[in-house]
Order: sequence, then structure tokens, then C-alpha cells
Amino acid sequence: MSHKDHDHDHDHGHCLEMFKKLSEYIDGELDQLNCDELEKHLEDCSACKICMVTLKQTVNLCREVKDNPVPEGFSHKMAAFIEALQKEKEGLRPPKPAKKL
Ligand SMILES: [Zn+2]
Repeated sequence: MSHKDHDHDHDHGHCLEMFKKLSEYIDGELDQLNCDELEKHLEDCSACKICMVTLKQTVNLCREVKDNPVPEGFSHKMAAFIEALQKEKEGLRPPKPAKKL
């Protein structure tokens, strides 16, 4: 392919919208329309997909430990996580220089 990996009308604001739906999605509380939208977005967006998988694992873990819903502070932590992911994606370069100059 000759085109660069241009972010095909994919703005990160949309990622955050999708992210807000992730916990409902994982809980199976999301309606079909939103589910479809989310799944479509996940096909397109590896950052969100990683988040979804991570969130799912974390939620499962939480459920194993306690038979409780996800704690309220949880979404804050995930928001920070998403932010970090997005920064990485925007940077698209190795995290650290391998050598000192
Ligand atoms: Zn996304």
C-alpha cells in the first residue's frame, strides 16, 4: 500500500466515546446499536481493542476477587491508561532511545 497510515477520520474523541461504552459492553448491558458501533470501532482501532481486552481481563479479575460491580474509581484509572496509549500512538516511535549520544 502506498498510502501512509493516515488516521482515516479517526479522531481520539471518538475513542473516548467508545471507551465510555466499554464497561457496559463487557457487562452485556449495551444495546445492539451501540454494540455494533463499538465492535466496528474495535475492528478499526487497535488502541481501543487493546483497552477492551485489558478491561475485560481486569473486570474478570475484579469479579473473581469480589462478587461486586466494578468500583467507581476504575474508570478514572482506565481513562489515564487510555491517555497513555493515545500518547504512545501519537508518538509512534520507540519509547526510549537505545543509546546515549
Ligand atoms: Zn479507538
